[in-house]
Amino acid sequence: MNPEQCLFCKISKGEIKATILYQDAAVTAFRDIHPVAPTHVLIVPNKHIQSINEMEAEDELILGHLFFVAKKITQQENIAESGYRSIINTGVHGGQTVSHLHLHIIGGKPLREPMG
Ligand code: AMP
Ligand code: ZN
Repeated sequence: MNPEQCLFCKISKGEIKATILYQDAAVTAFRDIHPVAPTHVLIVPNKHIQSINEMEAEDELILGHLFFVAKKITQQENIAESGYRSIINTGVHGGQTVSHLHLHIIGGKPLREPMG
């Protein structure tokens, strides 16, 4: 997929609107457009990485940072104590529908099904 046409690249560049909760040089966090729970945030690398399958050695720090930002977001959203789910879907069987690696942070209610 051409990064020029990628939805999450466009969101991280500000070319498509989203409710952005956090952004720095490496990652962007924004609210999922179809939330499955009171808090449903997506955290993406600003660099176009299609999925974990396309991850390169140089991306290790970015993905670690993705999780550190997840910690900040869960504190801001007040779900750190109650708990939440963090999910990265990969490929067809994983249910990945947007071909730009993203970490789902889902919480604010008890979760029973895999995706809330
Ligand atoms: P996945 O199924 O893991 O690829 O998740 C893709 C997620 O992106 C879904 O939860 C969608 O609701 C979400 N999504 C799709 N388009 C947008 C958008 N324009 N803004 C925010 N979230 C979106
Ligand atoms: Zn992209």
